[in-house]
Amino acid sequence: MAILNIRIIGDPVLRTVADPVTEFGPELVKLVADMTETMEDVDGAGLAAPQIGVSQRVFTYRIGGVEGHIINPVLENSEDYQADQVEGCLSIPGLGFPVRRYRATRATGLDVNGQPVSVEAEGLLARCFQHETDHLDGILYTDRLEGEDRKTALRSIRNADYGAVAERTTAKRAKTVGSSFGGTSFGAGPRGAAT
Ligand code: ZN
Repeated sequence: MAILNIRIIGDPVLRTVADPVTEFGPELVKLVADMTETMEDVDGAGLAAPQIGVSQRVFTYRIGGVEGHIINPVLENSEDYQADQVEGCLSIPGLGFPVRRYRATRATGLDVNGQPVSVEAEGLLARCFQHETDHLDGILYTDRLEGEDRKTALRSIRNADYGAVAERTTAKRAKTVGSSFGGTSFGAGPRGAAT
């Protein structure tokens, strides 16, 4: 397995509608394994394939100790909304804003072996599924902000030097990987639910 670099806002792959997965085989198994390892390494709550530069409809998730992945996900959302909660995104480091999301969702799709999966989700898991599925459609959570939050977010993104942030993130990750070679345990700090 391998830990992959996470693409940062400004990268066109994050604004591209991802293609459905049509080939199930060793490459897809490796993709899901690498995405899972990368998500764990950064202590993320979820990761969509475009975030590691692969424009295919795959996401992984990790909420409340439950890990999984869904390929070609389709969401059936509730009509009502949950209370707004702050979301972050691994592709927009350092920012977090409350986002409106549907209260519940049912995600259906396939697993890595091409078998059908269906997951009922509420709360944070439902939020994660909506955030990750947005990534597959080229949508970032900041697109869903309104009013002052939207203005503040767009200003922060404009002002942030995300090229430099990406280099720092990569350097930090390399260091983390290095520390695991000695067999010492390493813990990621609390980062909230960045996905
Ligand atoms: Zn994200």
